[in-house]
Amino acid sequence: MTVKMKVSPEPSSQEKLISLMQRYRDALNYSIRKIIENKALSLSKAHKLLYSNLKDRFDLPSRIAQDCYREALTIAKSWLRNQNKGETPKAKNLRIWLTYNQSYRVNEEYVEILGGVKLKIVGWDRRYDSYPNREARLVFRDDKFILYIYKCIPKPAKYIPKSILAMDVNEKHIVVGNSKIEYRFETAVEKAIRYKRLVENLQKKYSSTRYNGWIRRKNIRKRIKNFHKKARDILEDWIKKISYKITMLAKQNQYAVAREDLTGLIENLRKLPKNHKVGLIILSYRKLEFWSNWQAEKHGVPIVIIEPNGTSSICPKCGSKLKEKGHRVMKCLKCGFEADRDTIALLNIGKKALSKIGGSLTTPTASQMTDVAPNRCEEPPRSSENPRLLGRGGGQMKEILAYIINSQATPVSWLNISKETSIASPHTTQAYVEDLKNLFVVEILNFLSPESKIIQRKNKKIHITDPFLYETICEFAKAEAHELSLLEAVVATHLSRKYETFYWKNKHEVDIVVRLNKKQIGIEVKKIGRSWEKPRHLEKTFLLTKDDIPLFLASINV
Ligand SMILES: [Zn+2]
Repeated sequence: MTVKMKVSPEPSSQEKLISLMQRYRDALNYSIRKIIENKALSLSKAHKLLYSNLKDRFDLPSRIAQDCYREALTIAKSWLRNQNKGETPKAKNLRIWLTYNQSYRVNEEYVEILGGVKLKIVGWDRRYDSYPNREARLVFRDDKFILYIYKCIPKPAKYIPKSILAMDVNEKHIVVGNSKIEYRFETAVEKAIRYKRLVENLQKKYSSTRYNGWIRRKNIRKRIKNFHKKARDILEDWIKKISYKITMLAKQNQYAVAREDLTGLIENLRKLPKNHKVGLIILSYRKLEFWSNWQAEKHGVPIVIIEPNGTSSICPKCGSKLKEKGHRVMKCLKCGFEADRDTIALLNIGKKALSKIGGSLTTPTASQMTDVAPNRCEEPPRSSENPRLLGRGGGQMKEILAYIINSQATPVSWLNISKETSIASPHTTQAYVEDLKNLFVVEILNFLSPESKIIQRKNKKIHITDPFLYETICEFAKAEAHELSLLEAVVATHLSRKYETFYWKNKHEVDIVVRLNKKQIGIEVKKIGRSWEKPRHLEKTFLLTKDDIPLFLASINV
């Protein structure tokens, strides 16, 4: 991933920079030729062959000389690998590779390049600031300098939403909610407008004066500029915060965020006579789109964009037109449904979003089984529109559940699951199973070493949390039920509500290990009672058979 940054050198160092880039280009072409001639295809060989030469002959700072032969090496290697190679490759444009903190540095307003060149940052996508900078490429083209900074940005997998968190936006409020929650946030437009008014006052005060000394005017212009900036900053800060809040709210509850496409709203606002308020509302909508998409992407929250027609004028229950009844309250004459305008918008947005992604929700399994997200807006229609919108469809989830049941409580690895299902990577598998854990469908037990260390790289035991769920999943995934692993699952899940639970295994296996203070207690679940050899590191052990389980569990006060 690269971040593009427009930069412009201080006038005094422009010449210096262009000269450096010209020398770099010549040095690069020289290095490519030399590397190919001498077959110096390792870093150490290239270093020996070129380093002091690049410094002396081309007058490159030492770190940039290294960047230069490194780049030459990559170019030479890829040219040699190419079967139908033409002439030796040659760099024509002015561009230069830089290594972060060694040949370039970024601070709030400037990029500094080794050798004393300072470039002012003109435009910059600030969303990626928190990710570390890596190498960069400075390019000079059409009289402009652009710095491309490479960043390593891990993108979390999106979870499968349990339900929808609808978001309704107007100039005064942002309201988010669904059938269970509703939050209302006042926008910062009013606050920002105060600064715009200050601007107006200043302009009025100074527009007709006879006294317009140049210095005075410059001062005023500066103040006006600051007020404009202050208004924009207030708005942007608020939107960043609110986007983060809403995203986290969705993530904690495993909701997808749904909102209207704001482009249409912005277009409509543009038609209005232009004033400060309209300008600020347009700005806030644009920023909101930008930051809430970005937050969702960053935190793996699915986002659904819907068409904005009729979200606050149509009955969410029966679809008839609503009549206004009192302040902000709407009523349906056909079915009698009555609610606040915002609530209606939320319900309609939620409903539209569900019908858009219905095909890929996990609800056919998850909500039925856990009953965590009953939705007021009726069952999700099984529309096949955009069934892959959220990435992970129901089919793979089915395969994972079947795998878990068939593993019969033996420890499994993400890799093995991905090998035996159609899921390509262990990471995706892990994301799936973690989704299931967050939905309380499964419990994951880690390996606990005798030293009481949790070993993440060891296999995991995955249990279905509830006997009813277990049977439902068996049916749904066409897997065969296995009584003993079901018993073990019941005990493990029950214990994990109160204690930290793990498992242990070397030659023998201990089904469940509870970590209590620094001691470990082992629990084995067997069909019939047979004695078993207690591993020495366990403080205490229990052997449970089917008949013991109810009493044992009842004796734990959860
Ligand atoms: Zn109605």
